Amino acid sequence: MLVVCLVICFGICHHPPVTNYSLVLPTTNIDTVYLRNVLLGNVDYAHDSNFVRVDPKYAYRSIYLERNTYNAFVDMHNAAAADGVDLKILSGARSFEYQKRIWEHKWALSKDNQPDIQKATDILRYSAMPGTSRHHWGTDIDINSLSNAYFERGRGLKEYTWLLENAGRFGFCQVYTSKENTNRTGYEMERWHWSYLPVAAAYTNHYARMIGYKDLVGFSGSHVAPDLQVVERYVLGVAECNFPLLLK
Ligand SMILES: [Zn+2]
Repeated sequence: MLVVCLVICFGICHHPPVTNYSLVLPTTNIDTVYLRNVLLGNVDYAHDSNFVRVDPKYAYRSIYLERNTYNAFVDMHNAAAADGVDLKILSGARSFEYQKRIWEHKWALSKDNQPDIQKATDILRYSAMPGTSRHHWGTDIDINSLSNAYFERGRGLKEYTWLLENAGRFGFCQVYTSKENTNRTGYEMERWHWSYLPVAAAYTNHYARMIGYKDLVGFSGSHVAPDLQVVERYVLGVAECNFPLLLK
């Protein structure tokens, strides 16, 4: 069994990891072809042992997650429940084909007279091009609501405050933060999208190293991906996550 441990510090931490959240690639059979397929979402999550089906009590529908991510989520869910906060998963692992359906649905709704680059830019405010979504990796989850406003008051505010204060203890980070007064590029703020960094950081690094624009084909508007620098500005346009535990 080959387990590849990676020590990664690309703006996420300034010290070696000191917690039980070792940076581990979640596979016993690491090979380049498999890794590329995961990075691009060419995975049959229901029949891949690195992914598990989320217990329906944690989700609103049938959802799969990367195994380590799921275990960490269950821990986080239980801790939140003890504080009176209910965390439910709206979306987890999404394949290239699934993301393509989302993308092309929005593409079809775009105004015909717009240049393709404008259509893509508009969709990219909140949705990833197929092959570029962190949801492909099974490490990223959407929690409770897909509306930023929901998290500004009442129950949503309580949930978001809890996540801000506690998610880091379980390895989760809000990667799409407000872009105001920051250098972050890419998607707009998403208060619902949380990434399991112990695994996702490894995938982010691999993506930067292994995936190029020749891999981003097979969907409407793919030809504008290089001009929009979707890899550099969107895939890699994530917030720096400083975990309290990692910085001890
Ligand atoms: Zn998301």
